[in-house]
Amino acid sequence: MKYYDLPDTIINKKLRKIAVKVFEEIPVSKADAIYTLSTNDILDLGKISNFIRTKLHGDTAYYGVNMNLNFTNICELRCPLCAFSRDKGDKDAYLLSLDEIEKRVRKAVASGIDEVHIVGGLHPELKIDYFEKMIRRIKKIKPGLFVVAFTAVEIDYFAKKNGISAKETLKILIDAGIGAMPGGGAEIFSPHIRIIIAPAKIPGKRWLQIMRTAHEMGLKTNATMLYNHKENTGDIADHLAKIRKLQDETGGFKTFVPLLFHDTNTRIRAKRRTSTGYDDIRIYAASRIFLHNVPHLKALWMYLGDKMAQVLLRFGVDDFAATYYNEKVVHAAGAKTPDYGSESFLKRLIENAGLKPVRTTANYWIQ
Ligand code: SF4
Repeated sequence: MKYYDLPDTIINKKLRKIAVKVFEEIPVSKADAIYTLSTNDILDLGKISNFIRTKLHGDTAYYGVNMNLNFTNICELRCPLCAFSRDKGDKDAYLLSLDEIEKRVRKAVASGIDEVHIVGGLHPELKIDYFEKMIRRIKKIKPGLFVVAFTAVEIDYFAKKNGISAKETLKILIDAGIGAMPGGGAEIFSPHIRIIIAPAKIPGKRWLQIMRTAHEMGLKTNATMLYNHKENTGDIADHLAKIRKLQDETGGFKTFVPLLFHDTNTRIRAKRRTSTGYDDIRIYAASRIFLHNVPHLKALWMYLGDKMAQVLLRFGVDDFAATYYNEKVVHAAGAKTPDYGSESFLKRLIENAGLKPVRTTANYWIQ
């Protein structure tokens, strides 16, 4: 499709107005976001979101070859939304020693990974030197290995536990070798939903503050949004608006990642047991259209299923996530996907959608 064709190809009148804004590079409104999150005209949504995706990334779709490192499942917060966390003393509670972490990373490096993705529970006894040593030992294994580590929730917790500021915490971890931060813990910012799904977690305002600090220190981050629990379209539009506003100020978000909530083994009963294909399409397309200033949109195939994630490559997604050797968090919540996807599996799904797979890291090779 040529750029000047876009609005003329849209049948739905409201979506045509949104397409004109997109075409003229005018940010769409919150009301537009709510409409895109509600419409059944997914073919029109696809034309608009794929237009943006193509303009930004051509026919490229990114993927990574990485490992997940969930160093502990012991967590002080025990959020109702979480199936992964345990109390210390629970039969299946665990904490990996630094030696065990090194062993696992060495094994994954030998298999050819480019990146380690690290998140874990908020363990009350771990001090900042455990995390600093962890990153230094990982970087020693293979200096070019990219480390994306610790959510804003973890950074806030480490800072409080160690009596230092978030900025000091980040400085220690950046010096040790982290290259980017994942976007977890954002959940949904609306306080009336957050109080139900994650009452002890830092408020959205603090999450955004930590991200601002990270961005000001030159650290790029992701941003996430958890959907399919108690939220409505207004909550989603509000969440997107807060991300877009901070991005206007800092430019530090490289990727937006909608996360499909799975309620198995959690204390939350989702409105629907799972999302429908239309729900996923609306969320991803609306995110691509609204977040004009965030360069990448990532689909986590482990959360969505590989087939749905593949379809989303034509609804704004340019990043097909990664191999995720040994993923624990979403599988604890009942995801039916395998906990590892080979590189050839990811490449085949991308190529089969008519796109060109490009292997990358969380910073898209910007070290
Ligand atoms: S979601 Fe994160 S902070 Fe909440 S209980 Fe699970 S691991 Fe802990």
